[in-house]
Amino acid sequence: MKAVVFEEHGGVDVLQYKDVAEPSLGPNDVLIKVKASGCNYNDIWARRGLPGMRVLLPHISGSDAAGEVVGVGSEVADIKAGDEVLVYPGLSCRTCQFCANGQDTFCRQYKIWGFQTGPLDGGQAEFAKVPAFNIVPKPQGLAWEEAGSLALVLLTAWRMLVGRARIQAGDLVLIWGAAGGLGTMAIQICRVFGARPIAVASSAEKLEFCSKLGAEHLINRKKQDVSEEIRKITDRRGVDVVFEHVGNATWAQSVASLKWGGTLVTCGATSGFEAPTDLRFLWNKQMNFLGSHMGNKTDLLEGLRWMESGHIKPVVSHAFPLRETGTAQTLMENNEVMGKIALVPEA
Ligand code: NAP
Repeated sequence: MKAVVFEEHGGVDVLQYKDVAEPSLGPNDVLIKVKASGCNYNDIWARRGLPGMRVLLPHISGSDAAGEVVGVGSEVADIKAGDEVLVYPGLSCRTCQFCANGQDTFCRQYKIWGFQTGPLDGGQAEFAKVPAFNIVPKPQGLAWEEAGSLALVLLTAWRMLVGRARIQAGDLVLIWGAAGGLGTMAIQICRVFGARPIAVASSAEKLEFCSKLGAEHLINRKKQDVSEEIRKITDRRGVDVVFEHVGNATWAQSVASLKWGGTLVTCGATSGFEAPTDLRFLWNKQMNFLGSHMGNKTDLLEGLRWMESGHIKPVVSHAFPLRETGTAQTLMENNEVMGKIALVPEA
């Protein structure tokens, strides 16, 4: 089968579109013919190489995929060839106390499929194999490109806002990178709960896009001082929740934008891991700083229910043939994407 593979870390030039063996099935596995996969930031981290994390080489990235089932292992009972499905990308032991309690992300064996798995085990290929537990029916009415690129950002944003920050109706929520993969989900999840999203992005075009998705206030970070705008919007009170994933470049403004007793939830650090904090603000203003990582299968299923009812829409701005994965990653690295990029294997 064709797949996008890298055998060493580096720039997009290490990505090879080449033939590799089809995955072989274990008794509890399902094989899907991939109709579309998604492009995520973790594809870029894996390709570049991350300190402290071993990427198994040769590597196929892709933590999102949707397609048709073409094979099932001997122990798989309720999934059959022809089913239209998408992948829940969290792999865990399924037997520990956390897994038994639906808290997959706390499992000591938790891995993100297509990022921490391998060698050659991800969605950016013609065929992909995952355990039956990781198969989710494709919501009706979604195009393959939509179904194949939504899971990771939907479940992550859902857990950040619903499971961790516990947003409430009326909450003002500052969303960094609001036109990006996580941000477009965050805006819509806020709306589902009656919260009031404040979108931050780097261009007027992106902000118009955020407004159409439901953002109530818009801040152009290239032209405006974000924490100053937040003071104006909130009449100096500060926001209830900050949705963080940028890290070093935005941390100080995130902290300055929080209300007394407010909650900052973060899942990433695109611009750098160092985030200096004046602890006096933390204790005096009694702020809550929360970490969040991926989401459990229930987070995905909850999010998909709102997607099926049309309250949350998948947002795909580009679809590229699989062989053009390098172009897709470059667009992401340059912040030129609104929503998601789908990658489509050739028919
Ligand atoms: P994305 O689609 O590329 O969107 C990221 C957005 O961040 C960009 O659109 C950009 O928006 C904004 N941004 C980038 N650099 C910035 C800077 N210096 N200052 C302010 N804004 C900046 O990526 P994503 O899928 O949303 O993921 C975002 C981050 O979250 C990545 O680091 C990813 O690895 C991480 N993540 C973590 C988890 C987890 O479970 N731990 C899950 C998903 C993602 P503008 O330029 O328009 O402002």
